[in-house]
Amino acid sequence: MYKNLTGILILLICCSCSPKVKSIILKDLSTIDPLKKQGVHNCNDPLYYFPDSLTNIRYLRINVHFMDDESGTRNFKMDEGKKFIRYLISNANKRLSENKKMNLPVGNTTATLATQYRYKIVAATNDPNDDGFYKHYDDKLYYYVNKGRNKNNYDRKLIDKYSIGSDSIINIFILPHHPDSVATEHYKATKTGIALGTSLKMAGMLEGDPEPWKYATLLNHEVGHILGLSHSWLRYDRCDDTPEHPNCWGRTNEPPCDTIPSNNMMDYNAEQMALTPCQLGIVHKGFNKINSKNRKLITRDWCHLDKSKTIIIDKETNWYGSKDITHNIVVKENVDLHIYCRISMPQNSSITLMPGAQLFLYDATLHNDCNLQWQGIIVQSKKDISAQIICYGKSELLNCTTSIE
Ligand SMILES: [Zn+2]
Repeated sequence: MYKNLTGILILLICCSCSPKVKSIILKDLSTIDPLKKQGVHNCNDPLYYFPDSLTNIRYLRINVHFMDDESGTRNFKMDEGKKFIRYLISNANKRLSENKKMNLPVGNTTATLATQYRYKIVAATNDPNDDGFYKHYDDKLYYYVNKGRNKNNYDRKLIDKYSIGSDSIINIFILPHHPDSVATEHYKATKTGIALGTSLKMAGMLEGDPEPWKYATLLNHEVGHILGLSHSWLRYDRCDDTPEHPNCWGRTNEPPCDTIPSNNMMDYNAEQMALTPCQLGIVHKGFNKINSKNRKLITRDWCHLDKSKTIIIDKETNWYGSKDITHNIVVKENVDLHIYCRISMPQNSSITLMPGAQLFLYDATLHNDCNLQWQGIIVQSKKDISAQIICYGKSELLNCTTSIE
């Protein structure tokens, strides 16, 4: 393709990539004023994690526990429970795939982005009989009470005793309301749930509507809490695109609910079908942050190279947040790519800089997050035009195989 190609160099620059470490500053950055130099860039800012065309769908690992009393008559039988929950999860995933435009504020121009996360039921062990569904018979811990003297919705004993792999799996507990509470006049066996750490309890399915899909938004809401989202009708939910409002379930004839109600997933309303860019930024920031709770809950599917496509950078591009890349990257001729945080490259992958392309690294780390080897950066040149790598701060390349020759 390039007759005058003077050679393809694979560079290790200002980095600690073993075995050969080479430190090369190819261009003086004094004329460049990156955000980091101004002290305003922060790799943990949710603003940099709005899902875009490079955001792969993240799969949250979940398992399901049916709590029953020792007679085994208070909860689903295992087969019907599995069927019910599989349907519920499938519907919850469908809703996540259909993120809706925000109702509020009226007349808003808030973007509607793909949520780019879903649920996947997984086994916690290597046991061939482990399919991620469990049933427990426990007279003391099998029930849910959300009001009154015996209220136990915040109680963690059940989670401490029965959760499995809760550092990497969301444990969902399906509970009946306590029959004694249900028998009293004032107790309502409503559909309800609560998120506690990486687990959640859900109740009301056994007493209420038998349609599994009717519990899908409850699941999405509670998992939203696990992923770091707050109730969005409140002022301080860390998002400017979720306005304060009276949190009406639906529209009525009386104030304050005589206006368009919210449809946000993190409010209490009849829809719960919208997540804003800021909310998705909070969720995906967690997915991308090394050692964060959110990241530990997702399937690690970014280790290996997916050759089904190549990421082509054909105009000046800024990657302000961290990313787990699963494809090779090619930066086209005379195009600049700016990287500000951490980028994981898949095994055996490379970043190719075509002649005249420039890769700017600002305190950036390029690595393979699974401790596998990737091939590094291929710097192409043609006649006297070369690609360049320009480093600022403590940028490093880790886990790559080839050094400069
Ligand atoms: Zn809530």
